[in-house]
Amino acid sequence: MVGKGKSLLYRREICRLCDSRDVGRVVELAPVPLAEKYTELESEGDSAVYPIDLYMCGACGHVQLLDVVDSGALWDDYTYRSGQAGLMVDHFQEAADAVVRRHRPDPRRLVIDIGSNDGSLLRPFKQKGYPVLGVDPAKDIARAATESGIETIPSVLTPDLARDIRKRHGPAAVVTAFNVFAHADDMGGMADSIQRLLGPDGVFVFEVQYLLDILDRMLVGTIFHEHMSHHSLKPMARFLDRHGLELIDVERNHIQHGSIVGTAQLKGGPRPVRPAVGELLALEERRKLDRPETVKQFGVRLERMRQVFAGLMTDWDRRGAVAAGYGAARSGPTLIAQFGLKNAIRYILDDHPQKVNKFSPGDRIPVVPTEELYRRTPDYTVILAWVHARKIIGENRRYLEDGGSFVVCCPDVRVVGAGEKLSV
Ligand SMILES: [Zn+2]
Repeated sequence: MVGKGKSLLYRREICRLCDSRDVGRVVELAPVPLAEKYTELESEGDSAVYPIDLYMCGACGHVQLLDVVDSGALWDDYTYRSGQAGLMVDHFQEAADAVVRRHRPDPRRLVIDIGSNDGSLLRPFKQKGYPVLGVDPAKDIARAATESGIETIPSVLTPDLARDIRKRHGPAAVVTAFNVFAHADDMGGMADSIQRLLGPDGVFVFEVQYLLDILDRMLVGTIFHEHMSHHSLKPMARFLDRHGLELIDVERNHIQHGSIVGTAQLKGGPRPVRPAVGELLALEERRKLDRPETVKQFGVRLERMRQVFAGLMTDWDRRGAVAAGYGAARSGPTLIAQFGLKNAIRYILDDHPQKVNKFSPGDRIPVVPTEELYRRTPDYTVILAWVHARKIIGENRRYLEDGGSFVVCCPDVRVVGAGEKLSV
């Protein structure tokens, strides 16, 4: 189901966290096609592009997209599965261990994961004996999770659904939402749902990519339509408070090159606020993270990166060099758009069964198996799956020895040839 251009889009007028109308654009970006719409035929599919400019709320400081793409269009073809990424499975195991060790949730009570995907985060809780329940709007993935033993409701979490779940299962000991808060347009509805699910001594644990890391490390590839919010702690703490939740702990980690795991309880809950909360809020204050000028610097650096790419492409043209892209990741279309790579990249290397031998969304660049890297040996290969840059380079030293070069996009544009090591 592919819709026609603008009908998929609506424009939000108020801040997603605090409802203020005082929202202003801080970073202008090139509009991009929807990241997951790979097509069988070059001529098929939606060629529309949609804005992804960043806005900041003058009242609470929250950085967000206001151009919202219809959630059906985003999620129907959603192909990402947590369990496919071994690192995430380990991460979820550690996260579950940490929640149980630190907060000792009641083992007779339910653990609910919002946006539970294939059940990778619930599985370790289940192994510890907790009853578990997933909620995820991607229907195929939800069905597969249920079939694999993790009961999953194929739906977006709404306050009504939260009430039904509580009626059926009782109050939850743990509610988790890992990499979900960036994806939700109706944050208020989600927070109210969480409040309804939680028992009086329950904990809510969430992981979000962290704005400070996005800015410091120039994580351009993380700005696409599914990521409607780029969270920082100060607006989040206020938002939770407005919805009856109290932030009691926070921790930074390296997931997606920089995320935070926050823990909250119902206001007046039994747990003390850990010092880490105040420490991170103080860091945000020092770094002036709630000021528009701070976020605008991202746009300035992005423009410089664009110019570096423009110089590279002029050089490739002049020398008749062939460039490819590596990784048909969700970040691909946005990196191609932001750096103007559409006409430079001849093909994208990826083995994903739902993407290989198809065409990339909007740009219509063919996706070919990764073994083609050695058959065709492109002169330059731009890493579009930026999260895995180091791994991709590490596994393809032979391509470099054969004379190819990788181009890495963040935190700076760098060309990596044989003999060069990448430190990220
Ligand atoms: Zn706000």
